[in-house]
Amino acid sequence: MSHLIAFEPTRTAAQARLAEFLPAAGRYAAERNFVRPGNDHVARLSPWLQKRLLLESEVVAAALAQWTFPAVEKFVQEVYWRTYWKGWLEQRPAAWTRWTEAVPRLRDGLRGERRSAWEAACAGRTGIAGFDDWARELVATGYLHNHARMWFASIWIFTLRLPWELGAAFFFEHLLDGDAASNTLSWRWVAGLQTAGKTYVARADNIAHYTEGRCAPAAGQLAPAAFAITEEPLPKVAAWTEDGLWSAAAAAGGAGERVGLWLHAEDLAVEVGELAGEKMASVNAAWPTGIAGRAGWGESVADWTRAALGDGATRAGAHFGVVVMGGATDDLAAELVEWAKTQGLRRVVAYRPCIGPWLDEGLAAERALGAAGIALTWRRRAWDTELFPHAGRGYFPFWERVKAAG
Ligand SMILES: Cc1cc2nc3c(=O)[nH]c(=O)nc-3n(C[C@H](O)[C@H](O)[C@H](O)COP(=O)(O)OP(=O)(O)OC[C@H]3O[C@@H](n4cnc5c(N)ncnc54)[C@H](O)[C@@H]3O)c2cc1C
Repeated sequence: MSHLIAFEPTRTAAQARLAEFLPAAGRYAAERNFVRPGNDHVARLSPWLQKRLLLESEVVAAALAQWTFPAVEKFVQEVYWRTYWKGWLEQRPAAWTRWTEAVPRLRDGLRGERRSAWEAACAGRTGIAGFDDWARELVATGYLHNHARMWFASIWIFTLRLPWELGAAFFFEHLLDGDAASNTLSWRWVAGLQTAGKTYVARADNIAHYTEGRCAPAAGQLAPAAFAITEEPLPKVAAWTEDGLWSAAAAAGGAGERVGLWLHAEDLAVEVGELAGEKMASVNAAWPTGIAGRAGWGESVADWTRAALGDGATRAGAHFGVVVMGGATDDLAAELVEWAKTQGLRRVVAYRPCIGPWLDEGLAAERALGAAGIALTWRRRAWDTELFPHAGRGYFPFWERVKAAG
């Protein structure tokens, strides 16, 4: 059932896919749960949205330009789930650090039958119809339909009894849309950690129905019920929203100051929105060679991300009228310091990456630039600044807030 889905890592391809999907957006609510070869009935925009080659605001505006709100409410609501998860993780970064610490420990600790079970799950050799197809489809295409992700995660955790953390790592290794917030928190949700007492149990009849008979595991193959997984409560961080430097209102620099832009793969449409009107003396889009290893990305994810960064760099260079600097580097922080000095920059500006691999790179760069007497000013898009603070509780109050804001 493996279908090759082409995700070209460019903004042009993202816009083309959005235009292609929009006529079907009104049928999304009725059809979204079906998992079909090619999955043309869902947007398949997630790799581009994750890199912000396309902005959430652009997708929502395009849907509402072609349809009434009631007709596309479900679709719009799903786009906002991405924002909700990101805002939630910003307020509880320990959900990310606990996971990153657990993965190598759990992987190294796998022995004997447990190790074989884990290897079979990743290779799609469990004998469970559907599950094996999705494992192979994920590795081959870098994408899975949402329902397949839910079933896969549930079977991984409750039927195969493998640690959810390693399932999330398998996804993060292969998903082109792999996102620290959406991936980690969705796995936690299936496992029952995200919403206390609420787990997601995959049922054979549900799989057969929504795959239109293509995948039909025997009912006895799947765990009939979940078991409880517990953890220490996650500490909540509050102060981050109050930092004015991240808001769109913060000035990038004083008059006449030479300012440079650090471009990274979490925001690759800098020619649109908050930073677009500012003057940049130079842009650096260096690729940190060690990020894939540190993040746990497979080769396809790393290649795709790097190519997307290249596409963003080309557009940023054309927009700001500068030559974009930076090839591959094994020390991004040192590269940015060197660049800033050579270019005579007083200040570097960047969209602040959210919790995840690019934030680690950014914070290391901030320290190194600071030590060299060069300020790094973090910016955040108004979309995030306005919405993240409301993502501290459940999705329902968040969504009500979005709707009330109009
Ligand atoms: C276990 C698990 C892991 C996941 N990991 C990721 C991940 O790493 N990255 C990721 O972007 N999504 C993740 N998702 C959410 C969701 O499955 C994908 O965003 C969606 O399948 C992408 O396909 P699409 O673009 O066709 O989505 P559509 O259904 O057409 O939705 C449009 C857009 O809305 C957003 N969206 C939709 N559903 C969700 C959701 N439940 N949570 C967050 N955003 C959503 C995505 O940006 C998506 O592109 C995960 C879900 C599960 C159950």
